[in-house]
Amino acid sequence: MNNEKYSAFEFNDGHKAGWIDELKRRRSDGPRLQSPSRPPRNYRLGTNCIHAGTYTDPTTGAVGTPIFQTTTFLFGDQTYDAFMEGFTRDVLIYSRYGNPNHWAVQQKIAALEGAESAVLCSSGMAAISTTILALSNNGGHIISSNDVYGGTYNLLREDLHQWGRSVSFVDGTDIDAIEEAIRPNTQIFFFETLTNPLLKAIPLKQIIALAKRKNILVVLDNTFLSPIFLRPIEYGADVVIHSCTKYLNGHSDITAGVASGSRKYVDRIWAQMLKLGGCCDPMTAFLLERGLKTLHLRMAAHNKNAIAVAGILKDSDQVVAVHHPSIDSYSFPWVREYCPDGFGGVVSFEIKGGNLAALDLLSRLKVPSTATSLGGVESLVSLPFNTSHNSLTQDQQIKIGIRPGLIRYSVGVEDIEDIILDLRCALEGVTL
Ligand SMILES: *Cc1c(COP(=O)(O)O)cnc(C)c1O
Repeated sequence: MNNEKYSAFEFNDGHKAGWIDELKRRRSDGPRLQSPSRPPRNYRLGTNCIHAGTYTDPTTGAVGTPIFQTTTFLFGDQTYDAFMEGFTRDVLIYSRYGNPNHWAVQQKIAALEGAESAVLCSSGMAAISTTILALSNNGGHIISSNDVYGGTYNLLREDLHQWGRSVSFVDGTDIDAIEEAIRPNTQIFFFETLTNPLLKAIPLKQIIALAKRKNILVVLDNTFLSPIFLRPIEYGADVVIHSCTKYLNGHSDITAGVASGSRKYVDRIWAQMLKLGGCCDPMTAFLLERGLKTLHLRMAAHNKNAIAVAGILKDSDQVVAVHHPSIDSYSFPWVREYCPDGFGGVVSFEIKGGNLAALDLLSRLKVPSTATSLGGVESLVSLPFNTSHNSLTQDQQIKIGIRPGLIRYSVGVEDIEDIILDLRCALEGVTL
């Protein structure tokens, strides 16, 4: 390492980047639309899903947020003031910087997460890459889990060293391993609150306590749980990320991502997003706002169906293992304390007979389509061995628990009777 290159870079207390604590400018929540109605803060989750952030257009009185399909906005005195005084995030200038459709969604997601602010990106990966680059710098070190989402793993492993960051991968459920991996320059812990596809849960409170003690930022990917089931900011996490492509939108028809947290951090992430360019387009933001209005209803239905599916699988003699927090043998029971209301819609299970038997089962299932992704209203099934984890050798797969015959079922919100009959018949070798 070229020490000279890093000499201008200071770590305070040896950890998170020194400049972060210098960001002392007074900040309001937001940015916010000037809507005449609705205090967003005091409502419960379901009401916020529907109402928070909605922009009531004064010209037409339209009840929902209109689509602002524009790249640019008329300059006024406020725009020039914003440029002069450095608060360009709070006025409408150009749609990469912000658009009313972004602001509406950001306000809604911030209300759901209990965050001051949020920034919308073009995909979950855009939110992840932008956040990590914004909150670390040249010479910094990141600790993550060896079974994070494939795209994240590839970014951390293949690209971050090119930007001067080093990364250690540990077992994210092992607090001692995390502590041992800490270096004087560790700036970020990046973990998923519930992992793909084995639904491993991190020891959330211990990770956050360790991070606070060592002055390290905690960035959590909460895609599998959604803010309906877990709001990590309430526990002290610094930034929460979602692939909105999954549950937040819920209809498998857009790609988007979001990062939420204090205004101080989200302003940094926004400034990084401007440079990397991963902004969301207005039409996508509109669709996401519409999807979010039913998030609470969908999550309750996903959860109920997934628990029923896990129960059927547990009782089948064709199934070797079921990975779901509702099952007695589940190895990370603390998640039940963090998520008393549910765990989302993903269940994974291992079938007798390995990958060939798994492929065979997929061909018999009729309710779920065989496709990657998750979190949509429709059920989907896929095999990690030939999709999300196919870049690993079989030995590497087994090491992180991806054993032959593993199937990931993203349980949708269809009628549970149909899901169960379909699953039972497929397991018994009957083709309907
Ligand atoms: C899908 C997914 C991502 C990536 O999201 P995109 O919107 O596809 O970029 C990141 N993290 C998790 C946990 C995911 O499931």
